[in-house]
Amino acid sequence: MRLRARFTFLFAALAALAGIFLVAVSDATLRRAVHDRVAERFRRELEHLTSDLARVPLDAESLDAFLRRSAAELECRITDIGPDGRVRHDTDLLPADVPAMENHARRPEVVEALANGIGSSQRTSPTEQKPMLYVARRLPDGGVLRLAIAQARLQQVELGYLWTMRAATFAVCLLLFLIGASASRRFSEPVAELTRAASAVAAGDFARDLPTAGGEEVQLLGAAMQRMKGALNQAVQRAESERRLTAMVFERLPDGLVVVDAKLRVLEANGRFAEMTGIPAPAGRGIYEVLRERPLHDCFEATVHTGEHTEKTVRLPDDRVWQIAVAPLPDAHRAAAVGVLRDVTRIERTEAMRRTFVADVSHELRTPIASIAAAAETLADSEPDRAESAELLGLIRRQSDRMRELIDDLMDLAQIESGAVPLVREAIPLRELLAEVAEDLEPAARECGVSVRVQGDDAITAMGDRRRVGQLARNLLDNAIKFSPRGAPVVVRVFRQSGRTGFSVEDLGPGIPKSERDKIFQRFYQVDRSRSKMRPGSGLGLAIVKHIAQLHGAVVDVEGEAGEGSTFRVSFPAAA
Ligand code: ADP
Repeated sequence: MRLRARFTFLFAALAALAGIFLVAVSDATLRRAVHDRVAERFRRELEHLTSDLARVPLDAESLDAFLRRSAAELECRITDIGPDGRVRHDTDLLPADVPAMENHARRPEVVEALANGIGSSQRTSPTEQKPMLYVARRLPDGGVLRLAIAQARLQQVELGYLWTMRAATFAVCLLLFLIGASASRRFSEPVAELTRAASAVAAGDFARDLPTAGGEEVQLLGAAMQRMKGALNQAVQRAESERRLTAMVFERLPDGLVVVDAKLRVLEANGRFAEMTGIPAPAGRGIYEVLRERPLHDCFEATVHTGEHTEKTVRLPDDRVWQIAVAPLPDAHRAAAVGVLRDVTRIERTEAMRRTFVADVSHELRTPIASIAAAAETLADSEPDRAESAELLGLIRRQSDRMRELIDDLMDLAQIESGAVPLVREAIPLRELLAEVAEDLEPAARECGVSVRVQGDDAITAMGDRRRVGQLARNLLDNAIKFSPRGAPVVVRVFRQSGRTGFSVEDLGPGIPKSERDKIFQRFYQVDRSRSKMRPGSGLGLAIVKHIAQLHGAVVDVEGEAGEGSTFRVSFPAAA
């Protein structure tokens, strides 16, 4: 029950109890007062009657008439009783009936009057069969004169006073009740207001201020609740910002994150996980459905069953490589394990490339080193003649040159690949540049019995770094010379086509099979090592070409069938 209703009920009960008590007390008091007053009046009337009768002696008939008159005046019953208890006169009976009346000597008031001069009693009259009040007085002749009145008559008199008293009592109690109820309302209203405000705060309405009206205790309670609200608000805000941070980290994580329950059902997963698995809404599904590769879901099974961390690197059928790490979560939670999926395909590829690269470099360096070592040994052990020594020293010099070239190429490539090459861009007159390159390579061309022709418009330019574009052209031209049969020409053409400019290098060498065209641009890749036996290459030339072209936004492609020579075309983007 609410406090206010409880107080109101309490005040109503108190007012009712007080009313009943007051009515009972006032009724009893009033009744006694009326009785006492009537008895007193009867005593006085008896005194007068006695003295009247003593003054004027009357015959029986006159006495009867006198008594009946007095009874009518006094509105009571008068009984005259002889010393022997016999009734001589009674105003409520006919004179003829009086002699038949019972002897009154034993009536309590008569006994008392005879003994003390005056006596009274309240009892039911045997003559009239109703409750009566009697007052009796001894007469000088030894008889007793008695006045009686019906209790009902007394009650009629009382009733007028009683209702006035009861109405006053009721009014006072009602007033008390109203004062109590209003006081309880004034006390309970701020408490109810506080309760409403506290409920609003509990429902998340932190903007609402707690009321400060009411008694001192209520004010103190309100202030305490206001402080509590402040602390609660801070705690809620802290929790909310932490929740937001967690959600953001969960979503922004570059790795796939998934939380599963003990039955290996996905409870939550981030966007990256959905992207990696290709399942947009994995929540609610079994991990077996989401991660179809057995080694992947085995990790979750193992962690959930053993409570241990599990980690694995798994190669998928489509050659992607995923790293998976699953950690158990404390028992008390619905979530049993959390898994992180990382796509390490690129790292794995880079790692594989690094391994191949180291193997290739070692392999390429081994041959010249072995030749130099063998030549040095021969020089040291046997005592070669002059001609032989010169030949061995020549071999050592050539192999050292080759190693230097290889290392230069490697350093160049590393520098270009790192992107740290500063390009000084300018409009390069392509024909002029290519003629310079051809001139530089003239000795090598002569050695191979190959002639180089540079054709095209002098005015054609390309935007780029002169030194790097020259390096690119040198590598292409060097290959063309190297692979051309003796006596065959190498033609370099400068062109302008659809707004783009560039040049092509054509030779009549062995050509490059279609299947090899992408691979020849990879580091250390050589179509057929026996082809370049004359002047062994490093397999790095075209890789350098590709990277320089990329730096310039240029495209390199190769045409020509195997056995029909090759044409390498480099085309630069149109100048902006
Ligand atoms: P290399 O130092 O071996 O020349 P490159 O990277 O320059 O290395 O060339 C890679 C491979 O591509 C060569 O080994 C060769 O097999 C092939 N190749 C390059 N240019 C030509 C060409 N003009 N004609 C035929 N094959 C070529």
